[in-house]
Amino acid sequence: MEATTFVLFGATGDLARRKIYPALYNLFLDHKLHNSFAVIGLGRREVTDEAYQAMVERSLRDFSRREVKDTASVRSFLKAFRYNVLDVGHTEDYVKLLERVEQVETGMGSTPNRMFYLSVGPEFFEPIALNIEASGLGAAKGWKRLVIEKPFGHDLQSAQELNLTLSKAFTEEEIYRIDHYLGKPMVQELDVFQQTNPVLHALWNNRYIANVQITAAETVGVEERAGYYDHVGALRDMFQNHMLQLLMMLAIRLPKDSSADEVRFKKREVMEALEPLDEANIEASVIRGQYTAGAIKGIPVPGYRSEAGISAGSMNDTFIAARLQIDDPFWKGVPFYIRTGKRMKEKSTRIVIEFKEPLKQSSTVEEDDIPNLLVFEISPNEGITLQLKARDPRNKGKFKAVHIDFHTSSIEVPEAYENLIHDALNGDPSFFAHWNEVELSWKWVQPILNAFAGNSVPLYSYAAGSHGPAESDQLLAQDGHHWWLDAPVDEASEITLPDASNF
Ligand code: NAD
Repeated sequence: MEATTFVLFGATGDLARRKIYPALYNLFLDHKLHNSFAVIGLGRREVTDEAYQAMVERSLRDFSRREVKDTASVRSFLKAFRYNVLDVGHTEDYVKLLERVEQVETGMGSTPNRMFYLSVGPEFFEPIALNIEASGLGAAKGWKRLVIEKPFGHDLQSAQELNLTLSKAFTEEEIYRIDHYLGKPMVQELDVFQQTNPVLHALWNNRYIANVQITAAETVGVEERAGYYDHVGALRDMFQNHMLQLLMMLAIRLPKDSSADEVRFKKREVMEALEPLDEANIEASVIRGQYTAGAIKGIPVPGYRSEAGISAGSMNDTFIAARLQIDDPFWKGVPFYIRTGKRMKEKSTRIVIEFKEPLKQSSTVEEDDIPNLLVFEISPNEGITLQLKARDPRNKGKFKAVHIDFHTSSIEVPEAYENLIHDALNGDPSFFAHWNEVELSWKWVQPILNAFAGNSVPLYSYAAGSHGPAESDQLLAQDGHHWWLDAPVDEASEITLPDASNF
């Protein structure tokens, strides 16, 4: 790692406090930061360096995965932090920032490598990038990098416009687009796992895999983000980015020790091979849902339309399930089912791979059906389970599931932001979204956005605390498949659903 000045826009925001400072602290504890590492936090209010450092320290105490015990090491970490006032729209503030950055770099006696981290709303991405360019902040001798978070646009056109503007100030190689799912340790394992394990490598194709199921379920509702979420929905908030990234990571086949360029090239190939949906019949492959009142862990919760800040007639999607097909020699004929939603039965992100059972007689799911599964638990638990169908020695003629399990403790494993910030500081873009991936994802999703906007797809209801609308189960049943590993739904959440035609 090289000496770096980390310039953080939005230094007082939620993301900075919950994720960025704790990630930097844990990298510091692991000796993964360069000795000449400085942070310049930016915000609109006048705050002293000391008050800023106290805020950073509080965030470590509240959110660091490792407890903050050793005050000497925290003090040493906080020395790297300074604060500067900057309003995104004030061009003169960037000139003052440049002076401060140069002062810090001179103090460190280091090459001016600058990482600009935009932990601010997306409406600020363009003015900040252009002001970095105009002020000379981006013109130093060392390297410069731009780190941005989703959302990268609201649809295909706005994403293309955003990218065009950013490219006036930063090259593609300098832009690190964070998709924090790509930072999760189990996601980073996916390709290594099949590359280095000959058994899995041999099975990783349509000859042996019946289907792939990718689920990201949340139990929370809209929380404080109602105004934002009601204009975004599950398709934009989760599916276009995180879910399609998980699909790419699962479907790529990489040679051992692939470079970042190869990883990104292969991911692009997966997206290019994704079969486009039939625009006239989106509902054949996509289920749109919205939650109604129900119960989460026995506690009653309101329906989406009764949440504060949501209009009574909202048609927004809080759930989406889809069937995708990849048209390449390895995956042709293997359905990828993707599902994500709010107010679901359990909080869980997992990938389930169901293996084919060539000798199975019927394609219907029977009561004692035990599939052979490979399961990647991505969050909140992290682990891999292989479920094998075996004869039950105590119950002749019956079968039982045998599990081979590996699970890790979340305290020991680096958080996604640690991995990603470390990679960005090191200039390794393997686990960041390349513009090609982002653009191809929007292109694939755009017909669904159009269908939702035109209401040509039904909006199905599901009770909070369930696994989504019944139509999501039917999507798989049509192919003789079944969502595996769903926890049983409490009777309490099985409340009467209003008719879908009410929407
Ligand atoms: P936030 O509203 O908590 O923080 C935004 C920051 O921007 C604040 O520090 C605020 O003072 C600053 N800001 C606002 N207007 C400004 C201006 N004119 N000049 C200078 N600074 C200004 O938001 P957040 O939750 O921290 O999110 C930041 C970004 O990260 C957003 O793009 C969000 O979509 C994305 N994101 C956040 C999370 C999360 O967990 N919070 C997760 C994924 C993506």
